[in-house]
Amino acid sequence: MARLVMKFGGTSVADIDRIRNVARHVKREVDAGHEVAVVVSAMAGTTDQLVKWCEAALKTRQLFDAREYDAVVASGEQVTAGLLAITLESMGVNARSWQGWQLPISTTDAHATARIVDVNGAELIARFKERNEVAVIAGFQGVHRGTGRITTLGRGGSDTSAVAVAAAIAAERCDIYTDVDGVYTTDPRVVPRAQRLEKIAFEEMLELASQGAKVLQVRSVELGMVHNVRIFVRSSFDKPEDIDPRGNPPGTLICDEGEIMEQQIVTGIAFSKDEAQISVRRVEDKPGVAAAIFGPLAEANINVDMIVQNVSADGATTDITFTVPAADFERAKDTLAKARDRIGYERIDGAIDVTKVSVIGIGMRSHAGVAAKAFQALADRRINIRAITTSEIKFSLLIDGAFTELAVRTLHSLYGLDKV
Ligand code: ASP
Ligand code: MG
Repeated sequence: MARLVMKFGGTSVADIDRIRNVARHVKREVDAGHEVAVVVSAMAGTTDQLVKWCEAALKTRQLFDAREYDAVVASGEQVTAGLLAITLESMGVNARSWQGWQLPISTTDAHATARIVDVNGAELIARFKERNEVAVIAGFQGVHRGTGRITTLGRGGSDTSAVAVAAAIAAERCDIYTDVDGVYTTDPRVVPRAQRLEKIAFEEMLELASQGAKVLQVRSVELGMVHNVRIFVRSSFDKPEDIDPRGNPPGTLICDEGEIMEQQIVTGIAFSKDEAQISVRRVEDKPGVAAAIFGPLAEANINVDMIVQNVSADGATTDITFTVPAADFERAKDTLAKARDRIGYERIDGAIDVTKVSVIGIGMRSHAGVAAKAFQALADRRINIRAITTSEIKFSLLIDGAFTELAVRTLHSLYGLDKV
């Protein structure tokens, strides 16, 4: 007997038929003798609609009250939790729904982007034991203890709810049922020979998720890493009856690197097209210039990613290049224009049609020359590299957007990731 968390996303609970399908997945695990907590998202499209209503109700952005936004958008999950509990009961499975404030799932008071502080798992465990009762928990939401108000965790937050519940009840695994059957070496729509990974280490998944792979909310992986919650990404569209709860269903296990026997050098390739490049030309090469550039950007809440600065040849001036989300490109340029006197530069160059390609793998820690191979392979394809950054288990290259597919395919074969 094991204790499991099963999380179902919006497409998996999009209508009553699919909720019934979810209930059959849950029943299968209960019948196998497991103690189960289910975490659900809102029905597909519901949260988007709720957000639109909030925006429509607003007159100006300034009046936006995140407390009321949370009151509205948290309602989507309330509905699915109740519906799934009803469905389970109708199948003869004991079940009870839980809202964030009922359990409670305590969070900070950062409305719309709250962080989980604590999940009370004791009541759930008592009910597993006493009544064999499945807990159906509304994802995405919580409550702030001090104010008693409903909070939400940011878009995609149900993944994080699920991992937090798994940690609180010491579950053996947190199964994330979704519309794909696992985590792939790269986006299969771009590289048809991408392969599903059997296992991936938390750190690698964290990089993949933050570099553009959209399988899981990044924070859920962070939380899994901190609390060592094994996360299993699997498909909710497999027929529940076809799955042997004691077998090895297809999916990807995100786990501690110690659990991975055969570590590849490169595990996956992520890419993000929503990048923009900004180059600040001929700034003085003296203390305080980087602060003068990045201080105002930080104040404007613009996330800066790759930063490249050359060492000047003449000791007088140099260029600083960095990337920002494409959506913030204009705002970033305006911010720099306003700070021109403080920074002191000749001009600003920018490009919006750029892609950041990131190659990720824990094996890079102990292997030299991994990135050098990529530079050669891209040169052979005549793909120019605009900027490079590296970390212990990752390197990222900024290239022209037009070469995205070619670059990703080239690197995918280069590191032996193609399915044979
Ligand atoms: N329903 C929320 C959203 O769409 C949370 C989630 O599905 O994870 O963002
Ligand atoms: Mg999601």
